[in-house]
Amino acid sequence: MIYCCDEHVELAIDVIVDEYEVAPNMKQLTSEEKLSTTCEYCGNNPTYIVSN
Ligand SMILES: [Zn+2]
Repeated sequence: MIYCCDEHVELAIDVIVDEYEVAPNMKQLTSEEKLSTTCEYCGNNPTYIVSN
């Protein structure tokens, strides 16, 4: 699973597709979840979680 912000969501999707060769699931984070984690790529508050 990858937490990512708006800017990096496409990158996260590419990574999941490359690694697992499946269409990823994208879920928008709740405001509570946003506060407890950061974007994997830039450290900003994440908007989505992308999983396989
Ligand atoms: Zn980011």
